[in-house]
Amino acid sequence: MSFAIEVACARCDKRFALSQLLNLCPCGSPLLVRYDLQKAKRVFVKSSLEDRVASLWRYRELLPLQDDVNRISLGEGCTPLLDAKQLGGGLGLRRLWIKDEAQNPTGSFKDRGLSLAISRAKELGVTKAAIPSAGNAGGSFAAYAARAGIEAHVFMPRDTPIANQIEVQQYGAKLRLVDGLIADCGRIIAEKKTAEGWFDVSTLKEPYRVEGKKTMGYEIAEQLNWHLPDVIIYLTGGGTGLIGMWKAFGELEELGWIDGHRPRMVSVQARGCAPIVKAFDEDKAAADLWQNAQTIASGLRVPQAVGDFLMLQAIRESGGTALSVGDDEMLAEIPRAARTEGVFFCPEGAACVAALRAWSPTVGSSPPTRC
Ligand SMILES: *Cc1c(COP(=O)(O)O)cnc(C)c1O
Ligand SMILES: [Zn+2]
Repeated sequence: MSFAIEVACARCDKRFALSQLLNLCPCGSPLLVRYDLQKAKRVFVKSSLEDRVASLWRYRELLPLQDDVNRISLGEGCTPLLDAKQLGGGLGLRRLWIKDEAQNPTGSFKDRGLSLAISRAKELGVTKAAIPSAGNAGGSFAAYAARAGIEAHVFMPRDTPIANQIEVQQYGAKLRLVDGLIADCGRIIAEKKTAEGWFDVSTLKEPYRVEGKKTMGYEIAEQLNWHLPDVIIYLTGGGTGLIGMWKAFGELEELGWIDGHRPRMVSVQARGCAPIVKAFDEDKAAADLWQNAQTIASGLRVPQAVGDFLMLQAIRESGGTALSVGDDEMLAEIPRAARTEGVFFCPEGAACVAALRAWSPTVGSSPPTRC
């Protein structure tokens, strides 16, 4: 069963029932799910996990799905936390772990979010849905929509990697290529969705993708025996992972499963598209639209994010920082990590290693505010 009680706006606190099909709050901000954690605490204990499925659905009580008949799962989550001794040693770190999200069903952590979003969409009667994607989200969405029997429409920038385009089509989704960036794709969906009857599954424009992504936080805690690391360094595009993990840690603390030691959340972006880094450096509460976004890391090419203020909040509350790295630095890390750890990073993943090379966190020291 689920201990979800309602959905609430992250900015104005307006509340909504779980029975409603929701996108953004009328005030324009993302909606987040709330749980009755005091009640959950009485029956949901660490040992409840012992005989559970090896997927993110093991945290069933802290997921928003109401009825398990609507669960759309391909075995997402429970990815390994690899001890990266060589790579970490080379960077002067005492310990370094890599959460290998490539081991998800369609090859990226987008599956976590889309398993939840599509399950909830099905539960609330959605028959047609649309998503903008510059990379992995499209294929993941198409796979889960296929399994749910939901008609899927994907809008991608014309220069999206061809592998991502083919994947979308093979899963039976309708693909449209757009001359522009992911924001332009999102705008087209917003314009057409009412007439077409599409449910919009854009990042943070519905409340459930972030609920799937937050399970990375639960898993990291569980895999490290409920002692969180000092720093989590994470690539941020739309920000669901960063926002979701920070939410997860708050929930685990309220459940009493972890103590108050929380990681510093470090956001990594590409130098050619770094709106969050800029806003962080300028002490702003929200980010400006990044002009002429350019980077080979398509997952990081997000010039404006509706959850920008939530990312900035999580980074600041945690004592973290925001760093940007160049495309050439990302590319240089790919063979290094592949040769030392046997892990073949995408440019986005490699960006985290490049950021670590430029900024080595020393435990206990305060993080620099600029990169
Ligand atoms: C989607 C994606 C990102 C951005 O993830 P968010 O959690 O939405 O910020 C980064 N890297 C890759 C490879 C992605 O597919
Ligand atoms: Zn609101």
